[in-house]
Order: sequence, then C-alpha cells, then structure tokens
Amino acid sequence: MVIPSLIGHKRDGHALQPAEWGELIREYTAGRVPDYQMSALLMAVVWRGLTPEELAALTDAMIDSGDRLRFDGFAQPRVDKHSTGGVGDKVSLLLAPMVASCGVAVPMMSGRGLGHTGGTLDKLESIAGFRTGLTLAETRAQIERLGCAMIGQTPEIAPADKRLYALRDVTGTVESIPLIAASIMSKKLAEGLNGLVLDVKTGSGAFLPEPARALELAQTMIGLGQVRGCPTVALLTAMDRPLGRACGNALEVEEAIEGLRGDGPADLMEVTYALGVEMLLLAGASPNAAAARQRLEESVTSGRALQKLAGVIEAQGGNPAVLDDPSVLPQAAEVEVFRAPRDGVIAAVEPRRIGRAIIELGGGRRTIEDQIDPSVGFVIPAKPGDRVKAGEPLASVFARDEAGAALGLKALGEAIVIKNAGKLTPLITHRVTADSVTELA
Ligand code: URA
Repeated sequence: MVIPSLIGHKRDGHALQPAEWGELIREYTAGRVPDYQMSALLMAVVWRGLTPEELAALTDAMIDSGDRLRFDGFAQPRVDKHSTGGVGDKVSLLLAPMVASCGVAVPMMSGRGLGHTGGTLDKLESIAGFRTGLTLAETRAQIERLGCAMIGQTPEIAPADKRLYALRDVTGTVESIPLIAASIMSKKLAEGLNGLVLDVKTGSGAFLPEPARALELAQTMIGLGQVRGCPTVALLTAMDRPLGRACGNALEVEEAIEGLRGDGPADLMEVTYALGVEMLLLAGASPNAAAARQRLEESVTSGRALQKLAGVIEAQGGNPAVLDDPSVLPQAAEVEVFRAPRDGVIAAVEPRRIGRAIIELGGGRRTIEDQIDPSVGFVIPAKPGDRVKAGEPLASVFARDEAGAALGLKALGEAIVIKNAGKLTPLITHRVTADSVTELA
C-alpha cells in the first residue's frame, strides 16, 4: 500500500475504502508504517473527519488488531465505564470496586494520561507494585475470582489503539470525534461486555467542549456499541472545572480512597453514583434507578467497595497498606498554599490550565518516552460560585522542588478566576441512549 497517496486522499477530503483502513491498521500495528506517516494521516482525519463506513472499518480494524477477552461459560453480567477524559476524574477508581461489590463483573480497561487529561492507569501505578499489564488469561481468572480487574491494554487488546493513543497524545490529534470514538470503543468492544456506560465530558476542559459536539460523540459511540452487540448508555457531565478536589496521580488515588470510605467530595460522588446506577441497570442487577443507587450507597457504607478495592490491589501486586495509610503513596517534597488574591466570587477553575500545569510539574507526558512523577499535582477545594475573601486558602500545589511550587502557584493564579459574580454549572446534563436524549439539567 502506498501510504503517501492515502494521506493525500484523506487530506483532500475523500474517504478511504474499508479494506484500506483494515490494511493500514494491520501494517501500522506490525510496525511497517512509521509514526510520522500515521501522524500525518491522523491530522488529516482531525480536519476531514470520517464517513460512518470509514469509522466502522477503523474501529473493527482496531479491535481485530488484537485478541478479545472471552467469557464463554461465565454467568455473571459484565459491564464497564469509560470517560472521554478530564481533569481530576478519578471516578473509575471508585466505580469499579463499587459495582463489582454489587455482584456485577467489571473488567475495567483504562488508558494513560492523554493531552491535558489524566489516565486511570497512571493513577493506579502510583500505588507501589500495582501491575496494570495483566494478560487476558490473568484478567479472566481475576474476574472469575474477584469480579473486578483494573488493567491497561495488554499487547493482546486493541494494540493498534495503544500505539495510536500514545501517538495522538503528542501530535495534537486527540480532538476528533471519530478518533476518540474508535479509540474508546475498540478497547471496550474487545472486553466481552454485556453493557457499557460512557461518561462524555463537556465544557472547557473536555476534548470536545461544546455540548453539541459532546452529544455527537456520545451518539457516535453508542451507535458503534449497539451494532456490535454491546448496549451502551452515556451521561454528559461537566468538565468546565476539575472533578473533586485532587488533580494529580497519587493525590487522586488518595481522594478515591476517601470516597470509598464515605468522605468523598460531593461532585465526585454524584457523578460516580450516576454512572454506577447506569451500570447496574444495564447489567439487569437492579429493577430501577432508585434501587441501584441504594445498592451502590450500601456498597460504600458497608465497606464492601473498599474491601473489593483492597482485593484488586493485592491481586495485582500493589501495596494494600495504601488504603489505611495514604502516606505510603509517593509524596511531593514541596507543598504550597494558594490564597485568594482579592475578595469576590470564583468565576472559573480552568481545568485545561490545571491539566497542563500537572504536565509541567512532571505529572504527565510531553513525549511518548517521558516517565511521570506521581506525587505532583493540586488539591483545589474551591469551586465556581464560591464567595471568597482576599487571603483565604483556595488550593495547594504539590511539587518536586521550589521551582515547581512557584510554577504551580502561577498556574493556580491563572486557572482560578475571581470576579464579582460566578456560578456553578450543572454537573450532569444529559442521559443518552440508542433512541433517546434526556435533558437532566
Ligand atoms: N479516551 C480514550 O481511550 N481515547 C481517546 O481518544 C480519548 C479518551
């Protein structure tokens, strides 16, 4: 195949044939198409989009680049959740053990940080020893035993997405509905699920900030799922401010554990419960939303969800002491408090600025090869709409050294906007299914 002519064809706004997508993805996965050519093609897709036939062919080729989790003879229903990416979004860390402790299997497969957003795998790996690279056989065995595994893409699952995801992260090619849809759905459809719940972010910190584009992304992914036998539901949730308070890998693990102890921030818990309700309903594990919510709340108050997380951490080689003693997580050397520079109302806590600052502090990647420092980040209790007084503490920066702390304080000064007025936008705005869009706020 002549890659430059495929790139030119796509650049000029023409569709590639399904067979061309198939061959391209096979050749790329086999290492016979270089990253520089794939980057150019990805950029052409960002600009030109994909037809529905191209999207279906790309998604199927990405699924077929690897193997699938097989659950023949396994009676328990299996559901998963995936977020389109945000800042402070540690929902998966709470949700997987909560839902699994309600008797629904969760083979949760996540990604690394992408662009300015954090990734569940990077967060989990801030727990010493935690192994996200389970084989399919290990994953299936753990699901049978514990009902939950939290893994990354092994070389066996959608390896094409693994490479493309890392490449998009560093080539400015994340923000595209078909590329995001194919990336997420290729992983999820290889998991052998009975249902999938999507958390599609909207607002300035989302890859697709405008609600209409978020809705289009949700419907695109739902369409891919339905046709491939995986009933899919999406919630559109706010990412115009960080979710919860902690932003940064180890800090987010600590906050997730607090959530499972019943002490999580209200916004984090609300999104987690709402997504969990959809998972239990898709699994047929609860008769209605109210019953599902009650079961999930009980999983927290009874301690069952926390116990489930302990089991997963232990099974995957991590140090379960983290559940009782967060100080075993990597600790930043410098912690500085950011104070309100004036009286007023918080008008914005800009998630993109916070996400980029985490990368600058060393907590995210600038190149594929970068090693990340899990200890750095921010804790930002302040939310839009809060009235504040000059000098009041609004947030903390966690950095490796004084220079990092100074950089973090500067970022907070830019991200936290204080004006005379400001308000919190609704957290969960839409529920989207294959045949309906319900406005919730
Ligand atoms: N999450 C993914 O898995 N892929 C994307 O492209 C964006 C978010």
